[in-house]
Amino acid sequence: MKKSLRWTLLAALGVLAGCYTVPETGRQAMVMISPGEETQMGAAAFADIRAKEKVSLDPAANERVRRVGARIAQAVGDALPSAKWEFVVFDEPKTINAFALPGGKVGVYTGLLELATTDDELATVMGHEIAHVTARHGAERMSQGIVTAAIGVAVGVATDNSRHRDLWRVGYGLAAGGTVLAFSRSHESEADYIGIRYAAKAGYNPMGAITFWQKMAKAKEGASPPKWLSTHPTHAQRISDLQKWMPQVLPLYEAARLRYP
Ligand SMILES: [Zn+2]
Repeated sequence: MKKSLRWTLLAALGVLAGCYTVPETGRQAMVMISPGEETQMGAAAFADIRAKEKVSLDPAANERVRRVGARIAQAVGDALPSAKWEFVVFDEPKTINAFALPGGKVGVYTGLLELATTDDELATVMGHEIAHVTARHGAERMSQGIVTAAIGVAVGVATDNSRHRDLWRVGYGLAAGGTVLAFSRSHESEADYIGIRYAAKAGYNPMGAITFWQKMAKAKEGASPPKWLSTHPTHAQRISDLQKWMPQVLPLYEAARLRYP
């Protein structure tokens, strides 16, 4: 690679690099993607998923997810200023999962609704997914990948043929490797913490996270775990962290529940 291009690339990274303060934890994260770009990517991905998967028309399930979601959205408040909240139920009884995308697009699978029997449990799961978005974990992960790949390109590690492809593959988190996985675990833990705070501020009992993960641990026995769980912390670790955080989160719930009789 030409020296001039190398310096242009590094200079561009310096200009683009921004610091983002993660809500609820105050952690400083390096994010090089603008909230506008992120929201656009989220909306496009959500439209894609909606078109491919079976949307549930069950009025009770939809009402439940919207009711819980609206309260969490209120607890999130200014942390997601550009949010155009949308809550969609996907009809997949075997999928115990939920997700949230930038811009406030939230999907919940019917399999999760069956396992999360109380609104407290559902709120902590939805809070966790929404926390990934307000903490901008996807953008941070992409930024980290872009930096790693760009440094590789800048020092001439990548071959000329593959460098552009690699840059974007790493950026989108598709590369395998220890760092990506470790990074992801810390994001999981942060989303757990922020998630129970959102649930508590929305007037839902954060203890729901513990009962939910106990059920997940049981459901896991016998069946092979879903793929997305492989990057998640072990159930035992997760439950012990949640228990450790309860004394500081339960007062938020006690205060908020008065507003939600
Ligand atoms: Zn997660």
